[in-house]
Amino acid sequence: MNVLIVDDSGFIRRMLRDILEKNGYCIVGEAADGEAAVRVYQEVRPEMVTMDITMPVADGIEALARIMEFDPEANVVMVSALGQEEFIERSLTLGAKDFIVKPFQPQKVLDTLERVGRG
Ligand SMILES: [Mg+2]
Repeated sequence: MNVLIVDDSGFIRRMLRDILEKNGYCIVGEAADGEAAVRVYQEVRPEMVTMDITMPVADGIEALARIMEFDPEANVVMVSALGQEEFIERSLTLGAKDFIVKPFQPQKVLDTLERVGRG
């Protein structure tokens, strides 16, 4: 499965890439802000997106809204920090399929993406 990783932290992007690549996922793009996330999504049409919430330029909520507008079938999993429950609720309303809370366990990431990938 092709995945786009969106996070302004290079450390988090690398961690997600490691977890996913070790488990058969193909990382087809990375983005460090919401604006780039929308652009890369439109270019590579990934099957799955992990979307950070707090980012510069355009945050994950705005990027999610624009991706869902472009592709109502998009599979977007939000990656939030503790204490962002209201943003998670907003994301699910906008069409995000699920969410992961940082700091995350690799197995939790894999379980969530597998569930979303199964539809
Ligand atoms: Mg962030």
